[in-house]
Amino acid sequence: MGRLGVGIAMGCAVAACIVAAAMVGKRVKRRRKWKKMVKVLEELEESCDTPVARLKQVVDAMAVEMHAGLASEGGSKLKMLLTYVDKLPNGSEKGTYYALDLGGTNFRVLRVHLGDQRSAILGQDIERQPIPQHLMTSTSKNLFDFIASSLKDFIEKEGNGLEQPSPWRRELGFTFSFPVKQTSVSSGILMKWTKGFAIEDTIGRDVSECLQLAISNKGLDVRVAALVNDTVGTLALGHYNDEDTVAAVIIGTGTNACYLERADAIIKCQGLLTTSGGMVINMEWGNFWSSHLPRTSYDIDLDVASPNPNDQGFEKMISGMYLGDIVRRVLLRMSEESDDFGPSSSKLTIPFVLRTPLMASMHEDYSPDLSEVAKILEEVLELPDVPVKVRKLVVKVCDVITRRAARLAAAGIVGILKKIGRDGSGGIASGKFRSDRPSRMRRTVVAIEGGLYTRYTLFREYLNEAMKEILGEEVSPYVVLRVMEDGSGIGAALVAAANSASEADRVQLQ
Ligand code: ADP
Ligand code: MG
Repeated sequence: MGRLGVGIAMGCAVAACIVAAAMVGKRVKRRRKWKKMVKVLEELEESCDTPVARLKQVVDAMAVEMHAGLASEGGSKLKMLLTYVDKLPNGSEKGTYYALDLGGTNFRVLRVHLGDQRSAILGQDIERQPIPQHLMTSTSKNLFDFIASSLKDFIEKEGNGLEQPSPWRRELGFTFSFPVKQTSVSSGILMKWTKGFAIEDTIGRDVSECLQLAISNKGLDVRVAALVNDTVGTLALGHYNDEDTVAAVIIGTGTNACYLERADAIIKCQGLLTTSGGMVINMEWGNFWSSHLPRTSYDIDLDVASPNPNDQGFEKMISGMYLGDIVRRVLLRMSEESDDFGPSSSKLTIPFVLRTPLMASMHEDYSPDLSEVAKILEEVLELPDVPVKVRKLVVKVCDVITRRAARLAAAGIVGILKKIGRDGSGGIASGKFRSDRPSRMRRTVVAIEGGLYTRYTLFREYLNEAMKEILGEEVSPYVVLRVMEDGSGIGAALVAAANSASEADRVQLQ
């Protein structure tokens, strides 16, 4: 080989070395980025950890806060609002009643026919529709006119059916699932909006009166006989079906709970007289807060960016409105650490672009190559060709966030049971914890409703599992979570029936 040949050979060798080194370098870099992404997940897992010991601290904190909220106005972040519902439906209700259910996402109009005994709903008609987005930030008049129009359309259809128009005044229960300072069973003042609603001129007004006015303006003869929130409606239906029902929880767009409290335990309302000796308390538990809640930087960022910072802290960790967005924030962080997500996506930076039902679909993707995850990443977040190993990380993130939410919600429920002495520990009022033998335990039913619990299987399973873990093997068989489908609306009709103007005035359409 001549000099030239040696030179060429050496040049080739050097070039090959450079290429090899570059490839190794790239691989090392990629591995480093992968490790960073995994680290984001590991840190998330650590900060979202909810061992039973921690959940029990949340249980205690919930019970203590409930006590404080009942002791004095403003005594706790839990408002513990009086509902003036002191008699829950017991089966003696009879006739036809209406309900309007304004929740977070959907709006429902209902009619129920009650048959004079427990669990005797002879028939029900329900019409659902999404709340038009623009009405959520419009004016009070526009919102209530829309609701009254829907009711009018619903009632007008009756004329086409077999039923005769009623000669009596119709009565209606209004489910209004926002914090209201109740002034009677059928009236109350809106304290604030939640779940993305923002209509300034409704705050401070009697929402029942707003609705009654809109109904009358449409020429309808319908009386708003009850104003309840969705939890109270759910409790009413639960109690109508099963007299052991003492509390109700909603986990949908937002989250809240209510329960039946002894009148003498409502210290902030000394001398409260109720026919039954008890009253349903609307906890507004979405605003619960405790230092024992496992909070991450993603929760803090979400809170800061929200229209209601420092508010609804529990709800922001638990409910359907927020879970998808917490996951989005974690994925955004991961994509900043690694280009395994592909070219950086602008969509990941858009708040609430990943809605919770989509997040649930990724979480519950059981296909071997996680094709549903790939589809949602591509179509919703514009992240095509994400490798399978990264898709697995995405599923894991969904799992961590959902598991934490479900377990915290379970701790909240046990907190209520503890406050009323139904968790097997003897309650907090007794000072020291008596160990109730399970033989002395009473069956306790908690009514539950909301899309997150009813339609998200893994969420439901995690919640049920955590209830068992917290209550323990001996006590948990006495506690039943019972789904009350459409309870929020049907229950409002039941409360309207239980508080009907008079026996004689009951509408008999059948
Ligand atoms: P609302 O809270 O408006 O009264 P729902 O109780 O039906 O209505 O709850 C709707 C919420 O439940 C949605 O905002 C969504 O977050 C959640 N959700 C509905 N379906 C699913 C699903 N399949 N998986 C996970 N979450 C769901
Ligand atoms: Mg609802």
